[in-house]
Amino acid sequence: MSDIFNVEEIFAQNVFTSGKMKERLPKNVYKEVINVMEEGGELSMGTANVVAKAMKDWAVEHGATHYTHWFQPLTGITAEKHDSFVTHPDETGKMITEFSGKELIKGEPDASSFPSGGLRATFEARGYTTWDITSPAFIKETATGPTLCIPTAFCSYKGEALDKKTPLLRSMEALSKQAIRIVRLFGNTDAKKVIPSVGAEQEYFLVDQKKALQREDIIFAGRTLFGAPAPKGQEMDDHYFGVIRERVGAYMHDVNMELWKLGVTSKTQHNEAAPAQHELAPIYESANVAVDHNQLVMETLKRVAGKHGLRCMLHEKPFAGVNGSGKHNNWSITTDTGVNLLEPGQTPNENIQFLLVLACIMKAVDIHADLLRQSASNVGNDHRLGGYEAPPAIISIFLGEQLEDVVEQLVETGKADSLKKGGVLRTGVSTLPDFVKDATDRNRTSPFAFTGNKFEFRMVGSEDSIGSPNTTLNAIVAEAFCEAADRLEAAEDFELTVHDLIKEYMTKHQRIIFNGNGYAKEWEEEAARRGLPNIPSMVEAVDTLTTPKAIHLFEKFGIFTEAELRSRAEILYETYAKTINIEALTMLDMANKQIIPAVIRFCKTLADSTMAIKEAGGDTSVSADLLKTVSEKLTEMKNAAKHLEETEKKASSMLRGKEQAFYYYHTVTEAMKALREPADELEKLVDKKDWPFPTYADLLFEV
Ligand code: ADP
Ligand code: MG
Repeated sequence: MSDIFNVEEIFAQNVFTSGKMKERLPKNVYKEVINVMEEGGELSMGTANVVAKAMKDWAVEHGATHYTHWFQPLTGITAEKHDSFVTHPDETGKMITEFSGKELIKGEPDASSFPSGGLRATFEARGYTTWDITSPAFIKETATGPTLCIPTAFCSYKGEALDKKTPLLRSMEALSKQAIRIVRLFGNTDAKKVIPSVGAEQEYFLVDQKKALQREDIIFAGRTLFGAPAPKGQEMDDHYFGVIRERVGAYMHDVNMELWKLGVTSKTQHNEAAPAQHELAPIYESANVAVDHNQLVMETLKRVAGKHGLRCMLHEKPFAGVNGSGKHNNWSITTDTGVNLLEPGQTPNENIQFLLVLACIMKAVDIHADLLRQSASNVGNDHRLGGYEAPPAIISIFLGEQLEDVVEQLVETGKADSLKKGGVLRTGVSTLPDFVKDATDRNRTSPFAFTGNKFEFRMVGSEDSIGSPNTTLNAIVAEAFCEAADRLEAAEDFELTVHDLIKEYMTKHQRIIFNGNGYAKEWEEEAARRGLPNIPSMVEAVDTLTTPKAIHLFEKFGIFTEAELRSRAEILYETYAKTINIEALTMLDMANKQIIPAVIRFCKTLADSTMAIKEAGGDTSVSADLLKTVSEKLTEMKNAAKHLEETEKKASSMLRGKEQAFYYYHTVTEAMKALREPADELEKLVDKKDWPFPTYADLLFEV
């Protein structure tokens, strides 16, 4: 390698870190900023002006000409509207760039085209973006030139949340407040807040860009809607952790560089289970920054791919028949003094604070399993959850042998005297060391697994924002903490009450613990016996947002108002309907304008050949049989296309809201399946050179 990179120097080069603020701001201004970051509140306009000037100067030194309030509307992606630093020139024609505190703190994009789910009529177009001071500003380098991006929350004129960030921030505050009550009960007097930390492992597919652009389904739907399986899939397990190919390696290197510059701690990379599938994981950080950074990871993965002639597919199920992609959301809660409430220590059976926290989480997840499941639903994830490659749609908690045993003892006797130990792993090779094993193996089939000192929520979709899952997690745990703290603060005998409470919660909510194989059919039956909800699809999960239980939870902790929840439900139905509609129309386009004409041409070739063979006195049985089979499939396909066209028309023109979404779910997706089947059969029969677009084999094995 000729280029030598110094990661320490590159890291956060494009971020206006608190270190840079310290260097560039007067002491008192810096102090005020840090104070607001840590304690909340608002910057005075004077301070904001000074910060804005320093930020602009720094950005201009890096070549920035524009700034943008960077936000996350309910479209699932980020939004930005660029403004340059240019101001009106003076009478001599000289122009001095400017960026005021007001511009830093508040933006007012015309927001009427973002989804609001009825929260705002189009004539009430105002929406405000406000600086999330706890997430640092950064410079994004794209073809538009370096742009200063200010992470913001996005609200309506009346203060209703129109984005993923606002509720997340509200949930973090709620969790912090309730968690502090818990640690105070255990004598912790110095912690001022408790912060949820998140590390999101991101899976993605990489395919050749030129080939991808020959497929309308990849362009419009982000996934393949047709495609027979390649002769080889993932059965050999030879891609998982395999040697990274040169072209992919060069791409990963570039992605890391870009992310490091943005202060994203890209840490792990490897090939995943499916061919052409890979993973990137950063180091965990505060939940709101992790949410922002995950958006940057997704954006960077896509953007850099283009430079390498590749296309990055973030869809949850880009290819049928091989694994899809998810996002493991690792979550823990830590005090500002560095105590992780999920750290069991050497003797978890004696760690009362840990056991209480665990009991509260069991309670939260059991009571709100439906909400947690909803938070990980999106259109693409419907193809994965419960599909024997990803966790089932049923929420359960994996604790591992050691902790499950502790829970069982507590439930039975109210105390846990013994602790299962990991034991020694004997390698059987004298030159290899024997070592002490973890007390618990992993379980990759669990949707919500305890992994040492964190929970790993494994249901989240690869393309989804991690905003909602973390908002929900924070909210439900805040509620459980609050209820526990209410009881414990009022208790006369704390020791006794806390023991009773742990036993009570664990007994009541033990049904949520499941350490077995989550992919097994028997688990579905067992879960039903236990009364655990099994919500198979995104549309069926929407109602969980507006149950009295959900409204009570979110309103009590100021995370969502009922109106906000109802608007979100409406947006989800709309999003589902629109997405499936695009997929249906794309299929029709490909079927009518590409596949059917290609197959007709192939039929003509077969017919011509059959005649020629016959004339020459040869055996026509092969070509004649093939012609018959292909023609039959073609008819089947044409009929299926006609049926899909009819259902799509009905869905898009005659129905609305929930009814429309359900019609798409039950009827249109079925019609899509019926069209895909004969088309995939035909792909296996038709001459490869006649097939109108690259196949799975071309896409998955040739990067
Ligand atoms: P595992 O192998 O158990 O999945 P890794 O060490 O690979 O664990 O971590 C996976 C992700 O979890 C990474 O993003 C990592 O930074 C994050 N992570 C590790 N510890 C914590 C924690 N205490 N809280 C939140 N996330 C964490
Ligand atoms: Mg993991």
